[in-house]
Amino acid sequence: MSHSRLDRKYQAKESPLYETDVWECSDIKCGCWMRKSMAFVTEPRCPLCKSEMVGNMRMLPKVITTAN
Ligand SMILES: [Zn+2]
Repeated sequence: MSHSRLDRKYQAKESPLYETDVWECSDIKCGCWMRKSMAFVTEPRCPLCKSEMVGNMRMLPKVITTAN
């Protein structure tokens, strides 16, 4: 048995998914991504492997932010 991040199911049944702008690592083996709304740079670098990140869309549960 090996631990995998993919094993973690974070999609609760009752969380509707929304198209969300994300940055994805250009290295497909890395798989790192972040929400654009949480990145404050226009050309981010992957925090794990330092590759360039590319814009994409993902279906994600809405994040409720308490900021503001
Ligand atoms: Zn990466």
